[in-house]
Amino acid sequence: MGARLIIVSNRVAAPDPKGTPSAGGMAVAVKAALKNRRGLWFGWSGQVSEEPDPLPRVIDAKRVTYVLVDLSKNDVQEYYNGLANSVLWPILHYRGDMQEYSRADASGYLRVNRMFADKLSPLVAEEDVIWVHDYHLMLLGHELRARGHRNRIGFFLHTPCAPPDILQTLPLHEQIFGSLVHYDLVGFQTANDRDNFARYLVARGASPTRGGAYEFEGRQVKLGVFGVSIETKTYMRLARNAGRSAMVALVKESLSDNRLVLGVDRLDYTKGIPDRIKAFERFLEDCPEWRGKVTFLQITPKSRSDVKEYGEIESEVTGLIGRVNGRFGDAAWTPIRYVNRSYSRTVLAGFYRAADVALVTPLRDGMNLVAKEYLAAQDPENPGVLVLSEFAGAARELEQALIVNPHETDAVASAIKHALEMPLDERRDRHAPMLSHLQVNDITKWAEDYLSALADGRQTRRLLD
Ligand code: UDP
Repeated sequence: MGARLIIVSNRVAAPDPKGTPSAGGMAVAVKAALKNRRGLWFGWSGQVSEEPDPLPRVIDAKRVTYVLVDLSKNDVQEYYNGLANSVLWPILHYRGDMQEYSRADASGYLRVNRMFADKLSPLVAEEDVIWVHDYHLMLLGHELRARGHRNRIGFFLHTPCAPPDILQTLPLHEQIFGSLVHYDLVGFQTANDRDNFARYLVARGASPTRGGAYEFEGRQVKLGVFGVSIETKTYMRLARNAGRSAMVALVKESLSDNRLVLGVDRLDYTKGIPDRIKAFERFLEDCPEWRGKVTFLQITPKSRSDVKEYGEIESEVTGLIGRVNGRFGDAAWTPIRYVNRSYSRTVLAGFYRAADVALVTPLRDGMNLVAKEYLAAQDPENPGVLVLSEFAGAARELEQALIVNPHETDAVASAIKHALEMPLDERRDRHAPMLSHLQVNDITKWAEDYLSALADGRQTRRLLD
């Protein structure tokens, strides 16, 4: 039968409408890893059940088995809304000051990580390779080791990793961040993230060994950089065919001859949406010649609405947009169109292709897949321009974008003008190398690179096919 690849993540995109997670790039990444492999994908079903110790739901699809566990209301509150999204998320995004720590949430996080290990443990065969994803499940490797599993176990952090001083603001940092040494390989999006974590380990007494590994308390962990990516070919095709989408056609028609500036982000304080709106306002102040000729479409699915900070960012964004539209709009022109819903990949690809400019200006972002999708969706003969925050992991790879500091309103405003007025030759010269980069470094390559590093020199194909 051969070994399987076991993927563990908070949510599972099972072939069942109830198991489909909200908009997010991770599901696509995991699917790429499982493509052409026998595997098992384990995680939360997204359902809440008060049944004590509910049995996991098992869905057998072709080569992949999905195992879904329900959480109790308390689990969701303490583990998911609490420690994961109100503490770890801000800390990893350099916002230690925003964490809302409580002991109850921390013990909920430990409890759910343990429960995942208890339920997964009996399903693990000796030769399986286990790949755990993201900040919700940092402790899982340690918990599986404690249950005697000697498998190759890897972890990938999809978020940024803050410097040690900020990681140490987590009261239980030794137990949570320190537990990552129980994995064989911890993958990061950029060298900066890896270096921050390496410095954290060294500050705790770890010593570097050869080949990017660190030794700590008798364990050896390898740290590596694997920038997550997209299905470049698929996006290019979706965007070429997007003209067929009625929604895309309708939007294009409604724009008349206006140029389109696009933002696509979950409603999250790390995405820099208020700063971006202020920059667009500054652009309209500084460039009266563009008033009435450009529309900024901001697509912003709501996310994590049960976490307080997300309600606050929502009021801030709606307030700012109201101000700009009230100040500059007229009966025939709305400067900013703001949409709180998510669109399918096909429609999104059409919006990307129709947009003259994409504003991807997070204050901090692990990678940012929207930046990559936008580039892949462009017509190479007449591409649009990407304005990209230097604090997105994507900026380490997409050097020909207009790189901005999202805190500098004037600079972002000038970048919007520069992007809208950029001659065709320069647009092509910037776009072509970035598209080539994405054609080579797509999501399949990301998964293969990670898994072969995890297999540590052994042939992943032989091990996992
Ligand atoms: N997305 C989507 N529909 C939407 C908005 C976003 O499918 O209406 C997808 C988008 O295509 C991208 C992902 O959500 O693949 C967002 O990933 P990103 O890395 O940019 O940010 P994250 O939300 O993971 O922080």
